[in-house]
Formats: sequence, structure tokens, C-alpha cells
Amino acid sequence: MNVLIPKPEQITNGSQTAYRGIDLKLLGGGFQGDMLFHENYNVTKNVRGVAVYGDNYRWPYNTIPYDISAITDIHDQKMVTNAMHILMYDVGTPISGSEGRVPCVYFRPRGANDQAYLKIQYGTGCSAHVGYVSHRQSEIYLQKDGCFETGVIQHELMHILSFHHEQCRPDRDNYVQVNWENIENGKQYSFEKYTWGSSVYNQGTTYDYASIMHYFGNAFSKNGKPTMVPLKAGVVLHGARVLSPTDIFEVRQLYNCNA
Ligand SMILES: [Zn+2]
Repeated sequence: MNVLIPKPEQITNGSQTAYRGIDLKLLGGGFQGDMLFHENYNVTKNVRGVAVYGDNYRWPYNTIPYDISAITDIHDQKMVTNAMHILMYDVGTPISGSEGRVPCVYFRPRGANDQAYLKIQYGTGCSAHVGYVSHRQSEIYLQKDGCFETGVIQHELMHILSFHHEQCRPDRDNYVQVNWENIENGKQYSFEKYTWGSSVYNQGTTYDYASIMHYFGNAFSKNGKPTMVPLKAGVVLHGARVLSPTDIFEVRQLYNCNA
């Protein structure tokens, strides 16, 4: 790819709230709250980070064509493209003598020949498909009131890149205690673990409390008490707003940018 990702400017929507501040109802709808699955998607077999297991779920040429035409508000559009830009820059490869970075994953507007692409549209709640499927449209839905902040958009973009929630890692019981008694009825599946090798890749990274894919400690609580408690002293599960160093490493490894 013969382009460099310029250093992005940071923009806000004026009332940017922490990810933990997101109304959980906004994460409703899909599997585990905000994940949508393509037909024929076998969640027990095809989950990866946790990144979906299977090369087929990675975007070819590390490129994600997108169509943002349904986001009619120009400022909302800018929030989305800026979130993409920051993600691309964060996972890009630094080069000496330039502030620009070589892209690792590349979001670009959809061309006439792109049959598989990401469609971004307004919707109820914030949700996204997980991973790429050939010849298919993948979708991100963003509720106008609540989803247009950089961290939320990047979380959904990570699903599109085929990443799942960090707290579903097979080894999570060594890092967080799940308080099943505090979980809202019907939301227990959000806390199920995956299996290395058959459903998620083991990328050799350690469990990452700071992952943008980790829910905050009160996620899906029915009584205001924590649904997850970190087992390591001093850790607070506040819900990250930026990609962590491990998130960046995992994207780069999954998309073969670490060579
Ligand atoms: Zn999610």
C-alpha cells in the first residue's frame, strides 16, 4: 500500500463521556450486547484476542472499504472517520523521519467493485458484525445519541476487524471473578468463555484489563453491584476509551504487520 497515515487530530463530539458512561441499553440487541453475526456464522467455532478463529474472517489485503453515506450529519461522519483514522494510526508502523505511519489495516471509502464492505448507519444502540465475510455487507449501527464517541466507535471497529470481548478469554477466571448473581437475567451469555484454538486464537498475549474490548465492572448488572471484579489488586475495570498496547499488538499480529 503506497500511502502513509498522517498523524490524526483528536476531535470530540462536545460532550464526550467515558465509555463506562454509555447506557448499557445502547449495547443491546446483538449477541453479547453489541455483536451481530452473519448468517452461517458458527459462534462456537469462529470466534478470535480474542480474535475469531479462522483466516476467512480477516479482511483481504487488510483493507476495509466502507460506506458512510447513511450517516447524514456531517459532524457524526467526522467522528466516525476520525475514529478510523486514529485506529489506523495507532496500529500503523512508525517510520523514521516522518510523523506518518505505514498502514497495517486500512479503512477507505467503498469503490464500485467492492462487494464486501462495511456499511455504517444510524440505529438503536451501538453494535457491529464480527469479522469479514466474503461478498457480504458488514454493518455497524450507531445510535445518534450516545454512540458517537471515539472509544465506542473504535470498539465497534475492533469487532469488524474480528475481535471479541476480552472478558470472554478462556483464561479470564484467573484475572476476573464473575459475579453471576449480579448479572441481569438473560445477559449471562455475555460472560461465557470461549475456547482457545477452536473458537478464539491464542495470540500469546496476557489478559488485558485495559483492552478497549473489555467491559467495565458493572456491565449488565441488575442491582448496581459489580458483575466482574478484577483479581489483581489496584486494577479498576472502567472501560477503556483508547486501544491499549496489547490491542495494538494483537491487531498487528492478526493482520501480519509484525513481520
Ligand atoms: Zn462489543
